[in-house]
Order: sequence, then C-alpha cells, then structure tokens
Amino acid sequence: MSTLADILEARTADAAPELVEQISGNRIRCYACGHQCPIPEGATGVCKVRFVRDGTLHVPWGYVGGVQCDPIEKKPFFHAHPGALAYSFGMLGCDLHCSYCQNWVTSQALRDPSAVSPPVDATPRALVADAVQLGARVLVSTYNEPLITAEWGVAIFTQARAAGLMTAFVSNGNGTEPVLQFLRPWIDLYKVDLKSFDDKHYRQLGGRIEPILATIRRLRELDVWLEIVTLLIHGFNDSVEELERLTAFIASISPDIPWHVTAFHKDYRMSDPDNTTPEMLMEAADIGRAAGLRYVYAGNIPGRVGDLENTRCPNCSGLLIERYGYLVRQYRITPDGACPDCATRIPGRWGRRFEGQLTSTPFVPGTRRLRMY
Ligand code: SF4
Repeated sequence: MSTLADILEARTADAAPELVEQISGNRIRCYACGHQCPIPEGATGVCKVRFVRDGTLHVPWGYVGGVQCDPIEKKPFFHAHPGALAYSFGMLGCDLHCSYCQNWVTSQALRDPSAVSPPVDATPRALVADAVQLGARVLVSTYNEPLITAEWGVAIFTQARAAGLMTAFVSNGNGTEPVLQFLRPWIDLYKVDLKSFDDKHYRQLGGRIEPILATIRRLRELDVWLEIVTLLIHGFNDSVEELERLTAFIASISPDIPWHVTAFHKDYRMSDPDNTTPEMLMEAADIGRAAGLRYVYAGNIPGRVGDLENTRCPNCSGLLIERYGYLVRQYRITPDGACPDCATRIPGRWGRRFEGQLTSTPFVPGTRRLRMY
C-alpha cells in the first residue's frame, strides 16, 4: 500500500532555480525557508516535502491538502479589504513542529501518523476559476507553511493576479532573502506568526528567531502589506518582559504594523496551559499600545475583549471599522483610505468602498449558497 510520502513523491516539480544552490559534497542547498537545508542525494529537507533525487531538488506540486473560503478577517488581515472573501488553500507539511498547532492535520501530515489529510489533485487554473466564481477578492496560501511550497504558490498567484485577485501568505515567517525576492512580484499581503521573542522558545518549535525577525524587516522594505499575529500561551510567551521586547521590536520596524494577539485553546499535543482568557489578551494589548503600536487587536474570543476587535483612528479615536468576530458591522474608511472625521491616513490596502461581506464564517466551497451581508 502507498504511504502518504509515496503519494506526495509523485506530485512534484523541479525547484525554482532561484531557490537552490549546488554546494560541496554533492549536496543541494534549499533557500525556500530559513533552515536553508544542505540536502544530499536521496534525502529530504527538514520539512519532509522537498527532496533530492538524481541531482535535482523536487518540490510539492499539483495538489492541495484542503480548500476553504474564509472571511479575510480570519487570516487575520484587518487592514486589507475588510469583508473580502479569502479563497484559502493549503498543501501538506511544515518546517516547524509546534505542539499547539491549530492546523496539525495538514501541517504535520508527514510527521504524525494520526494527522492524515490525503492530497487532492488541483491545477492553478481550476483553483483560480473556483475562487473567481465564488466571488473571492484574495487568494491565500495558508494552513500548512506556504514558504516550503513557494513554487506552487507562485504558479497559482500568477494566474490569480491575471484574474484580478490579490494574493497572500499566512506564514510562520521563517524566510530567506532568495524566497522573499522570488515571491515579491506575486504577493500582496503577508501575515507572520511571531510566536515568541525568545530564541530558546523558537528552538523548542524547531526553528530560530533570527530568520523570522529578518523576514519581518524585509517585508516592510519590500512594501508587502504585513500584519503580525502572536498566539498568547500562558507560561510560554506571555511574560511581561517578553511581550515588551516583542512589541518594541514591531514598533521599531513601524508602529503602523497591525499586531493581533490571539487566544490559545487546548489543541493537538499541548493540553497543559489553560486557555487564554480575555483579561490576558487585554493585558498583552496594553503592553503593545504602551510600546507605541497604533493598531492592536485581540482575537479568537468575540465580544469579550472590549474595543479590541475594532479599528479606531490613532489621531482622533473615531471608530473606523466595527467588528464582531469575523463580521464587519460598520465601515467608515474613506475612498482614499483615511479617517472620515480628521482625514488621518490609515495604513493598509483599502478598496474604494466597502463591498459588503459574502460570509463571516468559514465554509468549504460547494457547501453553501452565498448572499451579501
Ligand atoms: S523548505 Fe526549508 S525545511 Fe524544506 S528543504 Fe527547504 S530549507 Fe529545508
């Protein structure tokens, strides 16, 4: 019987030349993520989905591990076309192994036998046609780590752009300069999970902090719209000192980067820490604002985090976007992206007007009739 690894081995293409380098010892270095694995003949990288065979680096291609229609607020992007439908696809595998992963069925499919998610064959043309037909505004590579499948992402994004869609990565941010240059012509929005501000914690998850910080800096320089999320986990990353350093770092890149602090709920293998409470989120948000961040949001606990689901003008405090969970209740940004009360420019990627919201809850394509809210 074929294993999942066998099935995926049949669904590959050659790596992009920009993302490989022949190095000593007959090995190939992969630049798709911050591990920069030196891979010998017959071996796989840390992600287990890119492997060298016959002197060539083979990379995932031609399938999806899942497709879902999400409100863009779920990704979360709060400063990019609020209310838009984000057609979201994932593949399989990850370059980290976070024990609390909330997408473990796709991200850990090759490491954990209980995480089974069979691939479904797909083409970029069919995925984009489906997204357009459903009224999506943005096409998103998400659920597993998109950097490790960057070539497939670009193949889809090329077609998505031609169809007038925006494109996005929801990523752990463990990037490299070559992969960011490779993506730059094709990507509009990028969400980075900044999981901690302690290299020791990142090493527990199978990574290092420095490539993530470098990716955050570089995305701003490259003018990709960036939002940052931190899943707050009691006892892991919620000390005042760590949150002060984390938010000071973001503010030093730009106080205009939206920071979302979201609630952990017991999942996958991490069942020890208690669920994050609204009070914990609000205390973390206070630290972010004290660091100078202008747009701080609290997520995953709708209706219980005060004003922290809404966007307010940093100059006059006027309410600009009112949300409940993923639902946009009110939208007041002007057509040129400013506060209607004091004309302060609000950073983001705004449409000329709010175009309504097709859904405020995720759904799988083909399972729901859509209507505009
Ligand atoms: S994507 Fe990352 S983990 Fe996978 S082979 Fe390339 S460098 Fe290694």
